[in-house]
Amino acid sequence: MNLSVKIIIALVLGAVTGIMLNIFAPDLFPPLDTYVFTPIGKIFINLITMLVVPIVFISIALGTAGLGDPKKLGRIGLKTISFFLATTSVAIVIGLGLAYLFEPGNAGTFNTEGLEYSSEKAPPISETLLNIIPTNPIQSFADGNMLQIIVFAIFIGFALTMLGSKVDKVKDLLEQGNEIMMYLVNLVMKFAPYGTFALLASAIGQQGLDAIKAMSLYMIVVLLALVVHAIVTYGSTILLIAKRNPIDFFKGFAPAMGVAFSTSSSNATLPVSMSVAQKNLGVPKSISGFVQPLGATINMDGTAIMQGVATVFIAQVYDVDLSLTALLIVVLTAVLASIGTAGVPGVGLIMLAMVLSSVNLPVEGIALIIGIDRLLDMARTAVNITGDAACAVMVAETEERAANKLKA
Ligand code: ASP
Repeated sequence: MNLSVKIIIALVLGAVTGIMLNIFAPDLFPPLDTYVFTPIGKIFINLITMLVVPIVFISIALGTAGLGDPKKLGRIGLKTISFFLATTSVAIVIGLGLAYLFEPGNAGTFNTEGLEYSSEKAPPISETLLNIIPTNPIQSFADGNMLQIIVFAIFIGFALTMLGSKVDKVKDLLEQGNEIMMYLVNLVMKFAPYGTFALLASAIGQQGLDAIKAMSLYMIVVLLALVVHAIVTYGSTILLIAKRNPIDFFKGFAPAMGVAFSTSSSNATLPVSMSVAQKNLGVPKSISGFVQPLGATINMDGTAIMQGVATVFIAQVYDVDLSLTALLIVVLTAVLASIGTAGVPGVGLIMLAMVLSSVNLPVEGIALIIGIDRLLDMARTAVNITGDAACAVMVAETEERAANKLKA
C-alpha cells in the first residue's frame, strides 16, 4: 500500500475514532488523549519540524545557486511573488463572495453579549518586512525565523554562483546535506500514518459537537470556498499555465496535503511537501527549493479565505454593513496578513484581528469562531501548501518551455 493511501486511511480512522469517543465514551477520551493521542502526535510533529530549518537553509542556498544566473533568480522570484499575491487576492474574493451568498452570520442567533477576545499581539507587517535581513543569522536559525533564514540562504546561494569552482567543496557539502535531509524525510514519513491518526483523533475528540452545530453554516462556507479555490484557481493554473493534468497534480501531492491536514502547520509540512513535489510532481530541486519554503512562509490562500468569510460573518452578526471601500481594505489587509502569518497552527486567527480592526469590526467577534477554528485550520493549511506546490509546478513548466524555445 502506498503512503498516500495509508495516510488517507489514518485520517479517516482518526476522525472516526474521535467522533466515536466524543459520542459514546466522552469519559474515556481525556485519558486516551493525554497518554496516547497527544504524545504520538507530538512525536510526529517534532520529528518533521526537526528537519525544517536545515532543509529550508540548504534547499534555498542550493536552489539559488542551481538557478545559475542572477537574472533567472530575479525572474523566478518575480513570477513566484506575483503568483502568490494574485492567488491570495482571488482566494479572499472567493471567501467574501461565498459569505455574502450564504450569509452564515444571519443564520441563527449568535449571542455577542460579554464576548471577549484578547489576541497575542501580532507583529506589524512593516516590522516583519523591515527585519527581513538578519543581523545575526545564527539567531535566525535558533528562532526558526523563516523569512530571515530565506534571505540569508539566498545570499549564500548567490555567493556560491559567483564564486564558482572556488567553493565547490561547500557546494558538495550542501548537496550531501540535502541528500541526508531527504533521506530523513522519507524515514520520518514512515511514522506519518500513526502521527496523522493520533492528531486527528485528538483534534476531533476535543471538539464540542454543540459548537460545531451552532457554527455549521460558517464552517461549510469556509470549506466550500477552500474547495472552490483549490479546484478552480489551482486546477486552472495547472491546466492552462502549466499545461498538465490537474487530477495527477492533486493525486501526486495528496500525501503532503494529508500531513498538512493533520499537523495544521505549513512549516512542519514543508519537508514533506518539498519531497513530494520533487518526487511525484517532477519539480526540479532548484525550483522547489526556492518556491516552496518561500510559499510556506508568505503564501496562505486558505488562511485568507477563512479571514474573508470570518470578516463577513462577524459583520453580519454585529449587523454592520461593509462598504465597497471597506471590502477592498479587507482584501488588502488579508493579503498583507497572509505574508505576515507564520506557518504554524492557529496564527491565521491572530492575524484576523488585524483584518477586523482595519474596517472597525469588533475583534471580540473572534470569540465566536475560536471554538471550531482548529478544524478549519486543518483544511486551510492543506490549501495553503497546495498553493505553493501549484506555483512550483507552474514556475517549473514555464521555465522549461522557455528554455526549450531558446534551444529550438
Ligand atoms: N495553520 C496555518 C498554516 O500553517 C496558518 C493559519 O491559518 O493559522 O499554514
